[in-house]
Amino acid sequence: MSTSDKMLAGAVKTEAGVELNGVLLKPVVEQCAGCDRVRNFDEQQFCSSYPVPARKWVGGRCNFATHIKTESAAKAKVNPLKASKRAAKGR
Ligand code: SF4
Repeated sequence: MSTSDKMLAGAVKTEAGVELNGVLLKPVVEQCAGCDRVRNFDEQQFCSSYPVPARKWVGGRCNFATHIKTESAAKAKVNPLKASKRAAKGR
């Protein structure tokens, strides 16, 4: 698993868990692996943008996921290919 070595700035460990600016943070979920916004703290990984990463993946992709953007860009490249195949069939 490729993990980021960036630290979560400003986070504190409390009895309830890891907090940032008074907000309790939940660790990142599986889908976050490879995202640029993943931060390390207290041997766990958190999102620098959302306190509850799992919620960002409910019913679809996290719209801030940096690693997913790359994937959709790769998919976008496939589309012109399909279009040219369609054009070739029409000939
Ligand atoms: S931005 Fe989204 S994908 Fe990236 S770490 Fe945060 S919740 Fe996960």
